[in-house]
Amino acid sequence: MDSSNLIPRVLEIAELGAPVIRARATEVTNIRDPQLQAFIDDLLATVADESGMGIAAPQVSESQRIIVLSPQPNARYPYAPTMEPTVMINPEMLWASSEIGKDWEGCLTVPGIRGLVPRYQAIRIRYHTRQDAIVETTYEGFLARVFQHEVDHLDGVVFLDRVESTKDLVTEKEWQRMIAQRHQP
Ligand code: ZN
Repeated sequence: MDSSNLIPRVLEIAELGAPVIRARATEVTNIRDPQLQAFIDDLLATVADESGMGIAAPQVSESQRIIVLSPQPNARYPYAPTMEPTVMINPEMLWASSEIGKDWEGCLTVPGIRGLVPRYQAIRIRYHTRQDAIVETTYEGFLARVFQHEVDHLDGVVFLDRVESTKDLVTEKEWQRMIAQRHQP
């Protein structure tokens, strides 16, 4: 990390095969540190630039327990809800529903592939904000899915590990075709 960067930078995405993607990220203990705050600004700039629904610090080669949730409808996820980009430090899942839902996921770290991934339908979570406040909240559906996907990255897990069958993997091109057909009147 470089503390001299006052203008947020778009960081390079680490892809599957980079050792950092398979590592367990470490707890953050210095939330108010200026270098850490500058890194969070870079992470926000990066997820905005990539049109991601979220990002985890290991995806930009920083093995620390920080994620951003930033869902918004776009070409990659036309049905996403809109939420202000939310930084979560040391996020935890406190409770999960017994109900499981399956839906399609993609990942900046696994370009060109979509997978049908089972996730808890509803979860209760706790995290620290970048101002070091503790937040507890409940998510369901799409937001619960994005949270679980991003927290997996902190434990070295990618969505490919969660699919029930390799037949639940498709290319981005075929997925786009599938979604277009599904949304035809
Ligand atoms: Zn991902």
